[in-house]
Amino acid sequence: MGADGGRFPDVLAPSGRTLGAEERRAVLRVLDSAVLCSTFGTEARALEAEMAALYGRRAAVASSSGTAALHLAVAAVRLDPGDEVITTPISDFGTVAPILAQNGVPVFADVDPATGNLDPAAVEAAVTPRTRAIIAVHLFGAPADLAGLRAVADRHGLILIEDCAQAWLGTTPGGDLLGTVGEIACFSLQQYKHITAGDGGLCCTDDDELARRMRLFMDKGWDRTIGRLHLSLGLNYRMTELVAAVARAQLAKAAGVVARRAESAGLLLSSLRDLTGIGLPDPAGHAWWLFPFTVPDDPGNRAWAEALAAEGVPAVAGYLERPLYANPALADEPVYGSSRFPLEGRSYPAGLCPNAERLIDRTLVILHWNEGYTADHVEAIAGAVRRVHARLA
Ligand SMILES: *Cc1c(COP(=O)(O)O)cnc(C)c1O
Repeated sequence: MGADGGRFPDVLAPSGRTLGAEERRAVLRVLDSAVLCSTFGTEARALEAEMAALYGRRAAVASSSGTAALHLAVAAVRLDPGDEVITTPISDFGTVAPILAQNGVPVFADVDPATGNLDPAAVEAAVTPRTRAIIAVHLFGAPADLAGLRAVADRHGLILIEDCAQAWLGTTPGGDLLGTVGEIACFSLQQYKHITAGDGGLCCTDDDELARRMRLFMDKGWDRTIGRLHLSLGLNYRMTELVAAVARAQLAKAAGVVARRAESAGLLLSSLRDLTGIGLPDPAGHAWWLFPFTVPDDPGNRAWAEALAAEGVPAVAGYLERPLYANPALADEPVYGSSRFPLEGRSYPAGLCPNAERLIDRTLVILHWNEGYTADHVEAIAGAVRRVHARLA
């Protein structure tokens, strides 16, 4: 983003973010209090209460990033070394790093060729006696098949973690908030997400024991009600008061951000409906982090992204350069020291998840999306897509 000469609001500019007077007041309130660490302040605990209330869950735990939130969730599962967690090959690396960090093995299941979201049948086929959990990602803001994934998890006694980093306030087709079906849901406040405090993470759960484990892992295993006693392995993943105060102001704006993104995405959907060979996203429950669509294999998504960029429209082919499992960190590099543990004897060959590979290599195009887009922005994008379609499709 930012490569568009400033034509479209984007997340690295004030016009593409909702940071204003509320956030400024929040930062000053914390600075004036002189308490910047959340252990001694009120902002992070208030943010947790507000997040739990927004999602209708018993508890929320704040942390320093979306990756940290996922690490709290995986730590709370209490994997034995070598246990497996099934997840998707199309996501941010923050979805899988915590599995490795807890000495677990990421197992990749293939995705739906239209949405890029996990296919519950592929997840079920990947279950082994070592499987302990599933991490589902609501990719680009589109609801993953939670009914299907919940059923697989329940049949095999697995914990379902929802990675909602891209799906603030998205819903299932039935209207339930994404992040209320899994035992734990994780959110990110990184710069590029719907709402931001620079970096930050939140976990939600209805399970008091999972909440207790996450809170301990977030703060060095230290239960401060007892004394200087470390009950279990934990790190310092605390959110600061400055971040929490900004996040509280942003949380109050999340619904408006999602509504504005959905409104402009709806406009683009209706202007592209008649284009043959283009697969458009289903708007039901979509949180519109990005606007994804699919194009025919030939000439493929890279030609499309180049042609759109030439039209001045920010577009990315495939979202990723390669599936998560084809990154050196998983494919062939040591994990700890010179050791491949816990991946010894494991390989992630090309062709492991053919639908994901085809989306990344051939068919998936994403448009950056933003709450600052007006009808004029959408019209410019629609015109560019139609011109590129006339040339390439
Ligand atoms: C952004 C993101 C993460 C990681 O969040 P950070 O706050 O950047 O650590 C994890 N999963 C998904 C799906 C994301 O989009």
